[in-house]
Amino acid sequence: MPDTNFSFTSPLEILKHVFGYESFRGRQEEIIHQLLCGKDALVLMPTGGGKSLCFQIPALLREGVGVVVSPLIALMQDQVEALKQNGVRAEFLNSSQTYQENQRIEQQVRQGELDLIYVAPERLLTDRFLNLLSQTRLSLFAIDEAHCVSQWGHDFRPEYLQLTVLHERFPEIPRVALTATADELTRREIRLKLGLEQAGIFISSFDRPNIHYRVVPKANAKQQLLDFLKTEHPNDSGIVYCMSRKKVEQTAEWLTDHGYTALPYHAGMETKDRQRHQYRFLREENIIVVATVAFGMGIDKPNVRFVAHLDLPKSMEGYYQETGRAGRDGEPSDAWMVYSLSDVIMIRQMLAKSEASEQHKRVEQQKLESLLGYCETVHCRRHVILRYFGEDAADSCGNCDTCQNTVETWDASIAAQKALSCVFRTGQRFGVEYLIDVLLGKDSDRIRQKRHHEISTFGIGKELSEKEWRSVFRQLLAMDMLNVDLEGYGGLRLSSKCKPVLKGEQGLTMRKEQLVAKKASTKVARKNPLNISHFRSQIAWERWESLRELRMDLARAQNVPPYLIFHDSTLREMAEIGPQTIDALSRITGVGETKLQRYGQKFLEVLQQHSE
Ligand code: ADP
Ligand code: ZN
Repeated sequence: MPDTNFSFTSPLEILKHVFGYESFRGRQEEIIHQLLCGKDALVLMPTGGGKSLCFQIPALLREGVGVVVSPLIALMQDQVEALKQNGVRAEFLNSSQTYQENQRIEQQVRQGELDLIYVAPERLLTDRFLNLLSQTRLSLFAIDEAHCVSQWGHDFRPEYLQLTVLHERFPEIPRVALTATADELTRREIRLKLGLEQAGIFISSFDRPNIHYRVVPKANAKQQLLDFLKTEHPNDSGIVYCMSRKKVEQTAEWLTDHGYTALPYHAGMETKDRQRHQYRFLREENIIVVATVAFGMGIDKPNVRFVAHLDLPKSMEGYYQETGRAGRDGEPSDAWMVYSLSDVIMIRQMLAKSEASEQHKRVEQQKLESLLGYCETVHCRRHVILRYFGEDAADSCGNCDTCQNTVETWDASIAAQKALSCVFRTGQRFGVEYLIDVLLGKDSDRIRQKRHHEISTFGIGKELSEKEWRSVFRQLLAMDMLNVDLEGYGGLRLSSKCKPVLKGEQGLTMRKEQLVAKKASTKVARKNPLNISHFRSQIAWERWESLRELRMDLARAQNVPPYLIFHDSTLREMAEIGPQTIDALSRITGVGETKLQRYGQKFLEVLQQHSE
């Protein structure tokens, strides 16, 4: 039995012939080199950055089997299937298999018939498996999702702490730990807990240049979502995040009524329904999942074209993780969010009511401030995100709403003073609606009853419309000039921050809202990356449609997700270039030798049917 199916001797050859890619991305080549030299590595790369190749290629080049520790069954299955599609000898061992299957695979490991074996940490740590490894020639250990070792992180897995056993028992075998979670604390824990103090550290930029960021003022969220889908993603897969289960259900229903395939996903559903929805999302095209944050971990689908937020996430970390599920394949994708005054009030209230410790609340408070700052920024959104994660970034990215449409600002110092003193004069217990009525000098029974038509701020705000005042209050709340009271009625109180503004010592600049929300959304409407307008010609579009059909048929026949046959990016290149020979087809990105053999002829036939 040869050590691999392939006889390539350099990383670049493997990249080209096995995976069908032209060149390495970012630091991939350096990392591969490090492992080929037998040294350890810690790899920090954003989602979709291309972490897998960093250990897959050295595992193919070094003698022996590469052992990959991965925390999620779904992820393992996907990666193994993707490798098999490329002709790589890979298997996984986990609880979803029968005893016989397990035995067969163990046998293959022992006999050196595999290039890569994926296992869950619990399995790896059993005596049985460790003994198996001692009888086997090993090429490397890859510890995927290495942030699971961190107790402060979001996905702590106690078994990860015991992975130091690998180092102790197999000191000669190089190890690589990989994660997309960047913060300094987690990074330090990974090094310490996995005994990687000597490892080379490879940090990539966390920028996701193919994701377009946009935050839209919320008017009628569902209708806005529908408009967004209609104009930009009529036939795409995507995720819509909502805060509550109820809203998840309602939104999914609404989208279904409007002709979309929208499936709900939240923790209150039966496990089997949840699994079925997740399965369909992975296997079919044009599926929208409407979900609470419970959805996403282990979603490796590369062609998620949009992530929409109908409610505010709790922190920048959460937001970046959720939006990061879009566009793993590097194709243009959207992160779209609607955001309103009532969101800010609600989330501030939740924080205030929380029973967490003071310290914990302070941290949450700060995280919220950063997120609100992001929503209200008049600068490049990408810049704000990357700065938040400690990275230097260009002032303007050209691929976010604020870069594409300069946000107009205005001097809101006087308006802010009026709003704040209205809060003060009415006794710091009323909500926004009431305060605006007072500022506009409305003749209402409630105002008369409270005798607020007699105070100095009554009717002093007639120069702005109701809508403009809402925007002022929203921004004051976002700036933490106002607090929400704890009673739950949304009454506003002054915070200590607003003194200099009230005294006229500090000026305030605010965003000018585009007056009609609808107009704003069409103004920034871009071409949907993969609809007809995106293709150079009518014929390219026709090819794309037919290629997609063929891909779906092939995927169904093998019961695998379509993206494992070819990625969207590969299909799009085929459609644009329209290769007419096998040789020309082999030069398309993502077409390796195995896939060429397996599918080349079929795709070529479709391409020939649509020749120019
Ligand atoms: P991660 O695990 O970092 O989220 P993956 O390893 O799944 O990312 O890679 C993301 C996508 O990028 C995959 O579809 C992968 O095939 C593709 N990819 C990785 N490296 C390259 C490369 N050098 N050239 C082209 N595509 C690549
Ligand atoms: Zn920008």
